[in-house]
Amino acid sequence: MYPEPIAKLIESFMKLPGIGQKTATRLAFYTIDMKEEDVASFAKSLLSAKRDLHFCSICGNLTEEDPCDICQDEMRDKSVILVVEEPKDVLAMERMREFRGLYHVLNGVLSPMEGTGPEDINIASLITRLHDEVVQEVILATNATTEGEATAMYLSRLIKPAGIKVTRLAHGLSVGSDIEYADEVTLLKAVEGRREL
Ligand SMILES: [Zn+2]
Repeated sequence: MYPEPIAKLIESFMKLPGIGQKTATRLAFYTIDMKEEDVASFAKSLLSAKRDLHFCSICGNLTEEDPCDICQDEMRDKSVILVVEEPKDVLAMERMREFRGLYHVLNGVLSPMEGTGPEDINIASLITRLHDEVVQEVILATNATTEGEATAMYLSRLIKPAGIKVTRLAHGLSVGSDIEYADEVTLLKAVEGRREL
């Protein structure tokens, strides 16, 4: 019912997560109202994000240069590797400015339901990195979801026999939250992750 260029644009927006037909239609018409130079710059950044970013051959993070800045940084503590699910988790950790070790990005999570096995995510490259005797601790920072927990358990069983310390992030109550409103998993994790005062 729309002219083809608009229909195609709507179709493209619908490929993004969480965008249904209604939102896609609104975005498409919004795009048409934008200045041509803004649309051109938007299209350029879409292409550049896809073309100029690669996965770091060491840690699996998204980077323009291979190896990435973090892997190349001589000031970082090479004895600790923090394992996360996605590149955006690295950004979250870096924002905290407390962690000075290295990262390993799995780029996924084990999920029997979706048919994602150990060979589908960056596990082999993690094990290769551990052959380097510098590594003393692996921090498993996968999400506190069923899949994240299962992935952490799997990695822990795989890595521990090599005599490397394996730790898991303490998940718990978010700052400012009320115990009363916390869900059971959060509360359980908070109790498990308790520390001595
Ligand atoms: Zn890297």
